[in-house]
Amino acid sequence: MALDTYREKRDFAQSPEPDGSSRRRSPAGRTPRAFCVQKHLASHLHYDLRLEHNGVLLSWAVPKGPTLDPATKRLAMQVEDHPIEYGDFEGVIPSGYGAGIVMLWDRGTWTPEVDDVDAALTKGDLKFTLDGYKLKGSWVLVRTRGWGSSRGDDGRSWLLIKHKDEWSGALDIAEFAPLSVKSEGDFADILAQDNPDIWKSTRPAQGGDTGALFQSIVARALALKQTAPREAEPPPKTRSARPSARKATTAPIRKPRASRAGATARPKPRA
Ligand code: MN
Repeated sequence: MALDTYREKRDFAQSPEPDGSSRRRSPAGRTPRAFCVQKHLASHLHYDLRLEHNGVLLSWAVPKGPTLDPATKRLAMQVEDHPIEYGDFEGVIPSGYGAGIVMLWDRGTWTPEVDDVDAALTKGDLKFTLDGYKLKGSWVLVRTRGWGSSRGDDGRSWLLIKHKDEWSGALDIAEFAPLSVKSEGDFADILAQDNPDIWKSTRPAQGGDTGALFQSIVARALALKQTAPREAEPPPKTRSARPSARKATTAPIRKPRASRAGATARPKPRA
């Protein structure tokens, strides 16, 4: 029942997303269960926070992504429940609902800091602990009254806030650790593993910053795809085509790649 909306929005003949056919009972009480954050470049870039509860992933779209700064409250719009298997999903949605690129940005376990999660959700105040690669420590989701009410959000509007603890600090975690915890790649790498040709002409976003981001990512993915077969040939005496092509095309939209560190590890921020 809980996944009806999820299924109604999607055509699984067109989308590689899981259909949610599997069943899993989730633990109750203060027991660790799965969480993930997917970085989703669609009509707009956002981060989807998903917490396993009662056999589904409760989901919130966080436009600006999580922050480790307790003074910064991040808007989190509750969206339809997702299937448990979605917690491992990374890939390209070629068209339709959510068309774009999904990166598995963080994953791990979450533990409620309350005995009754349903009661906390009804109350609109859910305190919890995250143990992911990037996100750790104590957090709270608080339902807002007023925020977004002019848009008729029906109580779907929440704030995601980091509690002050040993894991909080003035570090922009989304910028510091931008890569996938699954593939260690960025959006262009993920698209290059799929079929970058699909968006040569019409892309999920055309104008503005998101359109420009898509344009740049599609161009880089196409370049990666073109250079990839050469890796099977003996390497040239000087530099291979791949690193130089990547360097030239990645520079405008992200900071120098921090290899594995960018995907997973991070230093402990200053409190
Ligand atoms: Mn999304």
